Amino acid sequence: MNCDFVLTTCPYCGCGCNFYLQVIDGKAVGVVPCKTHPVSKGTLCIKGWNAHQFVHDEKRLTKPLIKKSGRFEEVSWDEALDYTAKRMLEIKEKTGPDSFGFLSSAKCTNEENYLLMKLSRGVMGTNNVDHCARL
Ligand code: SF4
Repeated sequence: MNCDFVLTTCPYCGCGCNFYLQVIDGKAVGVVPCKTHPVSKGTLCIKGWNAHQFVHDEKRLTKPLIKKSGRFEEVSWDEALDYTAKRMLEIKEKTGPDSFGFLSSAKCTNEENYLLMKLSRGVMGTNNVDHCARL
């Protein structure tokens, strides 16, 4: 058995608590708070304590899928991104920019949230953009 403790930042909110992800034989199995971190000081909220659980969840999407003839089929990233961009522009043309609403996530970095805001306002032309922390 190979057991590692990997120091990382909690992905759930902007507090940025640190913990050691316990990895046994390549699989994340637990979390140990980091006592020396200046924010968390050895404590975590319930989300941080369970941050390892989604990593290997079998329901997690790991590959792009497109529904074809009523069934999801695995496709390449290029095909998925081309399809999504084409459909978004078609919808914008047909029903206007406010047909869209963009929801970002606390699991994203500040930079990723900023880019989603730019996509919403600058590319698609709508102010319908929000973040899960306000929902
Ligand atoms: S442990 Fe809780 S408070 Fe700390 S970063 Fe994670 S979600 Fe936020």
